[in-house]
This record gives sequence, structure tokens and C-alpha cells, in this order.
Amino acid sequence: MTATLIDGRAFAARIHARVAEEVARVKRAGVTPGLAVVLVGEDPASAVYVRSKGKRTHEAGMHSEEHRLPADASQTALMETVARLNADPAIHGILVQLPLPTHLDADAVINAIDPAKDVDGFHISNVGLLGSGQKAMVPCTPLGCLMMLREHLGSLSGREAVVIGRSNIVGKPMAQLLLRDSATVTIAHSRTRDLPAVVRRADIVVAAVGRPGMVTGDWIKPGATVIDVGINRMPAGVKDDGTLRTRLVGDCDFDSCAAVAGAITPVPGGVGPMTIACLLANTLTACCRAHGLAEPE
Ligand code: NDP
Repeated sequence: MTATLIDGRAFAARIHARVAEEVARVKRAGVTPGLAVVLVGEDPASAVYVRSKGKRTHEAGMHSEEHRLPADASQTALMETVARLNADPAIHGILVQLPLPTHLDADAVINAIDPAKDVDGFHISNVGLLGSGQKAMVPCTPLGCLMMLREHLGSLSGREAVVIGRSNIVGKPMAQLLLRDSATVTIAHSRTRDLPAVVRRADIVVAAVGRPGMVTGDWIKPGATVIDVGINRMPAGVKDDGTLRTRLVGDCDFDSCAAVAGAITPVPGGVGPMTIACLLANTLTACCRAHGLAEPE
């Protein structure tokens, strides 16, 4: 391996520490930042994420609430929960854990969240603000990727960036953030022709596809920085108790990409930890804006 490993865990730990310091500062001004996470149904992966968000929120000294609704909850019940949290002055950030059960209209729920409390940055107002270069709540995963890129590369101005994936959650906001930092941005997707040739142009590759190991080293320009957003759970044998062992892999084939890239994020331990760190940072920012306090940098 020749690439520098971009250590998301260490970076996220530094953000957590900084957020905790800032939380102490706003508490001295008489305010405790509060995050409410809404979980509908019993999806085990979502439950793990929600628990981990709650734990981190507490550790940072913030107020944390978890609102669980049954898998067959009605749209009305979910909208009422969001409306209550919108009106609650102790709550500065609201996150509705996705995906929602298919009978629910996720867009309607997200757009019912007060944009000032939309710490996921998915509300149409925040999407519009980001797209038009105004102050927005920025989605946590792309924000974490941007922070790692800035720390590793310094200025992104003029660099060729290729984002693989065009989801509203990762690909599109990632491209907007890179554009805001004056990179030259290409968004690739499942209809892109000759994807390897497109990726080979890139100084910065962000892979957000959901296909294990799709990006291989022969796609990577020597020295490029590779940010692997993919989280794919793969079978990895059988445990002593007969249950399946699994492991997480990214969208990039780590060994072949790391042999060519200048720097790369691992999976796990890259983008994942940064996402929760940015969620806490967004909650703190929302709290400061709500109370007219100085925002953390
Ligand atoms: P989506 O399924 O919403 O989007 C995937 C994107 O990949 C689509 O735009 C799709 O194109 C594109 N795509 C699919 N197949 C190909 C292909 N063969 N070639 C090129 N592009 C392709 O996924 P998300 O954006 O929500 O997530 C992407 C990955 O990131 C997943 O592995 C997810 O688990 C992970 N993730 C990780 C997070 C973290 O905290 N680290 C947070 C969020 C997501 P098209 O639009 O044409 O269908």
C-alpha cells in the first residue's frame, strides 16, 4: 500500500472533543443543545445507528431523546410527532431515521421538519439553500467527507472531482459542497458511459454507490484522493454458535485502490464515524442559531 490512510475515527474523535467543549460553552450561557431521533419500526441496522447516535449525544453533554413508533405507525402519527418536536424549545435538532416503512411518505415527513431543526439537511429549503450557495444545514455524510478532503488536501479549488452516485442523501449534496469549494465536479451514476475512464480523470473520487468493491485500482489516477462512502455488509464465515459472521466493505476495492491512490479512507473507520460527528456539530450549530449565540467554526 502506498496511499496515506485517512483515519476517520481519529478525525471524528477530534470533532467530538471540540463539540463537547462548545456544548460546555453554550451551557454556561444557559442553553443545552437537544437532539431528537425518531425511529419507526424495528429495522435492526437503524436501531443500532439510533442507539449509537443517542450515546454520542449524551457523551457530548447534549440532551438526547429517542422517539420510537411501531412499524405500522400512520403518517398522521409520525407527522404529529414531528410537529411536537418542532414546537419543543428543548429540541434543536430533529432526525427521522431513514429508510421509513414503505407505506409512509418520507418526503412529506422530512419537509414537515422545521428547516432550522433539520440537522440531516434533507428538507427542501436546506437543499435549495445549499444549491444556491447560502447558509444551510448540510447533510452529515457529505459534510464529513468534505472535512476530511479539506484537511488532507487543503484547498480543493480547481481540482477534478468525480462523485459516483447521485442520491439526495450523499451524491448530490457532496457534489454541491465540492462545487462550493471550487472543484470541477462530475457526477457519475448507473447510466454513465465508460465510468472507469471518467473516474481516471479525478484528483478526488467520492464513491457512494452501494456496490462492494466496484471501484478498482485501475480506475484510479496515481496520487488521487479516494473517499469511500459505501457501507456493504458481506458474509464472512460462520461463528461458533452457528450464526453468520459479517464484515463491512466499501464501494472501493481497498487493496488495489490503496496501491495507486495518494490517500484513501478505509471501511470501516473512514466516512462512517464522521457522519455522527457531523450530526452533533449540526445540532450544536442549530442550537447556537436558535439562541443567537456565536456559531462554532
Ligand atoms: P442510493 O442507492 O440512494 O444511490 C446509489 C447511487 O449509485 C445511485 O445514484 C445509482 O445511480 C448509483 N449507482 C448504482 N449502481 C451503479 C453503477 N454500477 N455504476 C455507477 N453508479 C451506480 O445509495 P446512497 O447514496 O444512499 O448510499 C450509497 C452508499 O453509501 C451505500 O453503500 C450506503 O450504505 C452508504 N452510506 C454510508 C453512509 C455513511 O455514514 N458512511 C451514509 C449514507 C450512505 P442511479 O441514480 O442511476 O440509479
